[in-house]
Amino acid sequence: MKAIAKTRPELGVEIVDVPVPKPGPDELLVKVAACGICGSDLHIYLWELGAERAIPSMPAVIGHEPAGEVVEVGKGVTGFKVGDHVALDPFGPCGRCPACASGRFNFCHSPGRLGGAFAEYAIAPVRNSWVVPKSMDMEQAAMLEPFATGLHAIEESSLAAGDSAVIEGPGPIGLCTALAARALGLSLIVITGLAADAERLALAREMGFKTVCASDRDWIDQVRAIVPEHGADAVFDAAGFLDSVRHLVKRGGEVIELGWPARDIPSAEMRSLFFHGVKIIPSRVRMPETWRRAVAMVANGAIDMKPMITHRFDLDHGVEAFELLRNRKGVKALIMPQA
Ligand SMILES: [Zn+2]
Ligand SMILES: [Zn+2]
Repeated sequence: MKAIAKTRPELGVEIVDVPVPKPGPDELLVKVAACGICGSDLHIYLWELGAERAIPSMPAVIGHEPAGEVVEVGKGVTGFKVGDHVALDPFGPCGRCPACASGRFNFCHSPGRLGGAFAEYAIAPVRNSWVVPKSMDMEQAAMLEPFATGLHAIEESSLAAGDSAVIEGPGPIGLCTALAARALGLSLIVITGLAADAERLALAREMGFKTVCASDRDWIDQVRAIVPEHGADAVFDAAGFLDSVRHLVKRGGEVIELGWPARDIPSAEMRSLFFHGVKIIPSRVRMPETWRRAVAMVANGAIDMKPMITHRFDLDHGVEAFELLRNRKGVKALIMPQA
């Protein structure tokens, strides 16, 4: 079968031909219908920001946000059958370690990992797999993982209906966070991005959100003119760099970190967050409860992920997909292995 693999510790990926894998105990073989390209895949493509930790050996087929149909089940599998439609989580909590035992499934010590989904077929441990209704569009199902990431950031915050938030980063995770925030009933959501993100900011406005271009010299004033006088209730960092957050969030407010931090927070900034009593909350991956909610929200039409899917590529055009995202064009690109 055809697949997209990382073959060398440098920029790039390769289209390779590999055998269809066999599911082991507690594993499913999934015929991949759609698999999103994630920001972390882009780091792996560019070979930056600790990508070597995600890809300890090569060649490695990449891709970890798939949805598809179960075509084979391994020994001992319960709760899944051939023909089921599933969405897959790259992070599958073990359920037994101290973190899981204390209910912090998203900080599991030894999660089941999932990769290899930019391929016609992929192996999925059952603990990484979530059944979705057959009526759910497979493209929407492939968007559940990023949506659940944004939804979990909202769960980690103490925001309530009527509150306000600034979201730094107009990429898929920023927009998913915004959709989840709106579903919660926030009264004001401002999304910021750089000049290079112009297309993404335009889509954010089409989706009904306020935006500010953080490349403008007076961008902080622009945000402050929109949010309540003493700052937003929460700031979400979906850009990997907490920028000027002390000017944006209210005293006693919250900063929720999503994604891979791309820079150190200067101590002057940390100091002001301390004096303003701002809580810094890491929002890592998702919880089993988040999946239940995310599937229900998309299945029942409370959330529509389609506007965010701007590009679709077959496996042969995988490199083009990465180059597109590298140039910050489009929002979410899906690889469609059966196309
Ligand atoms: Zn991802
Ligand atoms: Zn665990």
